[in-house]
Amino acid sequence: MASSFNDLEYNYQHICERIARAAESVGKTADDITFLAATKTVDPVIINRAIGLGLRYIGENRVQELLSKYDQYDLDHASLQFIGHLQTNKVRQIVGKVDLIQSVDSVKLAKEISRCSEKQGISTDILLEVNIGREENKSGVMPELLPELLDEIREIPAIRVRGLMAIPPICENAQEICKFFDNMRHIFLDIKGKKIDNISMDVLSMGMSDDYEEAIKCGATMVRVGSALFGKRNYL
Ligand SMILES: *Cc1c(COP(=O)(O)O)cnc(C)c1O
Repeated sequence: MASSFNDLEYNYQHICERIARAAESVGKTADDITFLAATKTVDPVIINRAIGLGLRYIGENRVQELLSKYDQYDLDHASLQFIGHLQTNKVRQIVGKVDLIQSVDSVKLAKEISRCSEKQGISTDILLEVNIGREENKSGVMPELLPELLDEIREIPAIRVRGLMAIPPICENAQEICKFFDNMRHIFLDIKGKKIDNISMDVLSMGMSDDYEEAIKCGATMVRVGSALFGKRNYL
């Protein structure tokens, strides 16, 4: 964990600067990039300090943890998103609480999000998670199955697809990871170009602590940064 407020402030400013520089290197500005903090294992007191520094997006990846921290987040000043693997039977616990579910990879999950949203009279924004490294035992839809998934998902009422998300395989170097990021951008632009009804492609969520600058250079519009902001996690 960031051992002091000074560390957190330093890390936050440092990441913001690096995001801005990476954005500028591809003709964008920091405003074009959403900086989301991955807040797993982080105490809400610390999360709220980061929000106090200007952080506007936070993401949890476990339903139980999100619920236990929910009353403590400063959600007047930040948007809460779900970024982890989501089981269908837990959907109803987070619908209405999160602004975006980043990790939808099946029609079944999308339908359940829609069903729970309809019950509350709302519509929920989602991203489709792509298994860009085609790794076994990893969540996300295989790239070649994405058209089929989009075709079914665009018919589902109370959800809005806003873009794509990916967690590439662990790579040896920047060059290697850029191949996956580039691949994602191609898929993203390809779908965007098709202008499918009810499907918008505004958000391309990729890049974490070790590679968010590369991701931005390859077209990410959102990066999800955890340990570079909060310090190394102490896994339970
Ligand atoms: C934890 C997590 C991140 C951030 O990882 P770091 O390497 O700590 O930056 C990003 N995305 C998801 C889905 C995560 O679970």
